[in-house]
Amino acid sequence: MIITLKKGANEAQIDSLKEILTAHRIEPRVWRGELETVIGCVGDIAHLDPGLIEALDIVDTVQRIQEPYKAANRKFHPADSVIDCSGVKLGGGSFSVIAGPCSVESEEQIVGIAKSVKASGATMLRGGAFKPRTSPYAFQGMGAEGIRLLSLAKKETGLPIVTELMDFKDIALFNDVDVIQIGARNMQNFNLLKEVGSYTKKPILLKRGMSATLQELLMSAEYIMASGNPNVILCERGIRTFETALRNTLDLGVVTLLHRLSHLPVVVDPSHATGHAYMVDSVAVAATAIGADGLIIEVHNDPPHAKCDGAQSQTPEMFAKTMQRVLKVREIV
Ligand code: PEP
Ligand code: MN
Repeated sequence: MIITLKKGANEAQIDSLKEILTAHRIEPRVWRGELETVIGCVGDIAHLDPGLIEALDIVDTVQRIQEPYKAANRKFHPADSVIDCSGVKLGGGSFSVIAGPCSVESEEQIVGIAKSVKASGATMLRGGAFKPRTSPYAFQGMGAEGIRLLSLAKKETGLPIVTELMDFKDIALFNDVDVIQIGARNMQNFNLLKEVGSYTKKPILLKRGMSATLQELLMSAEYIMASGNPNVILCERGIRTFETALRNTLDLGVVTLLHRLSHLPVVVDPSHATGHAYMVDSVAVAATAIGADGLIIEVHNDPPHAKCDGAQSQTPEMFAKTMQRVLKVREIV
């Protein structure tokens, strides 16, 4: 339910309305815009008579929300959310490119890549320390040591770091991590979403599950937000379809639709979406053109010898060219 207040409603009136709602075990979320103030009601509204609220002096309209996601809903929060990633802003007109290897492999590798992507204009560094691999025999990531090396790269470059949390038992290792990634395979790991949402207010980069609908993606964002963390960044990385020529199938229209449904920023991952390094440039440019709030791109200093996702990794030189093109498109959009 959304309550739009009349102009001139004062703080004391708003507080007493909030008390009424809280007494009905509804959590009021107040959003103050330039032209209107809106109160989003989170919780079970079955026992609340909308007529009772509508009758209040300060209330203009009461509207029921059909969608099952509330906190993530644009109707609850009409303005774009801007997520602060340790000083790097993402959303609401602020565009950010996260770049780095699929996985951290060594100090020279991560520090070297961090320096080169920063020089090209990346604003955050990615690198997996805990890797969700299809095969138990494949490289599983460096774990705690990988996070230590990411911290070193952050110290050297000042770039905030983005890395994936697979298991909540590892959260204590994430103190220096700026953005916590929840990967596609864990998008519906509801316990992980609840744990991470209640433990921290750090930004969460939530990747779309490979067979998840947009509503399911938004419901997973809702889990994190309902647990107490409003700082969610959605990531479209393609879904699995009958097509096998590309690693996944990417529908860029999703960016426009997610912006309509939700106030949360949307980042596109052209690397996992395509699976081919030569395609990353054009898809990154297209995602920028359609209005993505950011990109996450895999870059490796030596793709043929990468321990993970080498085929889709750009070299630092390719990334530099892509950044130039992306920034030109940003000037237009
Ligand atoms: C990754 O970012 O390296 C990754 C594993 O991505 P996804 O969860 O989208 O497959
Ligand atoms: Mn990868």
